[in-house]
Amino acid sequence: MSLNSGIFAPPAASGEALINLVGLNRDGFAEILTTLDQPPFRVQQLWQWVYHWGVDDFATMTNLGKPLRAALAARCEIRLPAVSRHEVSADGTQKWLLRLADGHEIETVFIPEATRATLCVSSQVGCTLACRFCHTGTQRLVRNLSPGEIVGQVLLARAALMAQGHERGLRGITNIVMMGMGEPLYNFDNVAAALKIVMDGDGMAISKRRITLSTAGVVPLMQRCGDELGVKLAVSLHAVNDPLRDQIVPLNKKYPLAELIAACRAYPGAKNSRRITFEYVMLRDVNDSRADAKALVQLIKGIPAKINLIPFNPWPGAPYERSSDDAIEAFAAIVRDAGYPSPVRSPRGEDILAACGQLKSASRRLSAVERLAADLVAPA
Ligand code: SAH
Repeated sequence: MSLNSGIFAPPAASGEALINLVGLNRDGFAEILTTLDQPPFRVQQLWQWVYHWGVDDFATMTNLGKPLRAALAARCEIRLPAVSRHEVSADGTQKWLLRLADGHEIETVFIPEATRATLCVSSQVGCTLACRFCHTGTQRLVRNLSPGEIVGQVLLARAALMAQGHERGLRGITNIVMMGMGEPLYNFDNVAAALKIVMDGDGMAISKRRITLSTAGVVPLMQRCGDELGVKLAVSLHAVNDPLRDQIVPLNKKYPLAELIAACRAYPGAKNSRRITFEYVMLRDVNDSRADAKALVQLIKGIPAKINLIPFNPWPGAPYERSSDDAIEAFAAIVRDAGYPSPVRSPRGEDILAACGQLKSASRRLSAVERLAADLVAPA
């Protein structure tokens, strides 16, 4: 819908959809305010209410005159995804299952640590990549999230944390990782629009140095990600030869290792301060040998990098097992001795299925037959 279609005067016919401000950039705000004959400085005021203060009620916007508040309320809304379920792990990790306007569901995970607090954000409903070890890849439905649905996850988590008594800033959300459901580089435009809002200094103000985008290796978009967003890059490597990577990360058939590694070498700003993170899921007897570790070191030679070893997180029906602690330690030692930090990512929120690769909302649309079956077994 065009914002210039004169919809602000006279008021919308009842039933016309309200415009959700969440996810709009400054131009979007300006377009609405111009239609309401407002001067340009109103953009900044409205921006701060929505993105800095996170309010969802126009009535609280006290520096806007009452008629303007009323006009905004008649045409616009500040709507976040609805919380279907909120779970808190024994280790403090929190997971929100969020329902979108069309009924699909996504997950957002908050991971507090001693020195930082990270929000893991989803970029798609489901995922098309079908990595063999990842639960999200088994979900049938996939669609891209809009900028508002991505920004909405951050606003919602921040509001929830503040309501729990977390402070804004350090004790709230300090870091963002695009590591939830979906492949962010398959939804680049919306992810970019959302991250620009998240990074904006007058809004949520989370610096690009504290944002990491994780990709399974969509090579053609990696350069743009660095140029246009300048965020940190994480690459889900998981295997160091094409035959194995073809199997466990099928995207490798499209963009094989040589191309992926070349794109990592060329990633804008990949100097020591902005090392690339390689994620490597530790699968027992699949990719966890000493020879694999040595090949890994060879493969990434010369790239300023950190290797994040992720012990495989099991899910119902998963075809793999987690590597032994000894295998993980031996692997880590080889990588470390070659000069690369190789932290082992401790699984967080496992008890609420919030750990890497465990996200899978229950949003799968039931077929008519499945619905019937569900009705038949449901208690009266
Ligand atoms: N599609 C992007 C974003 C997902 S990030 C990507 O592939 O990078 C989620 C991270 O968790 C990825 O590194 C993914 O490979 C990893 N992962 C998926 N399933 C996992 C599992 N069962 N155990 C451990 N890590 C897993």
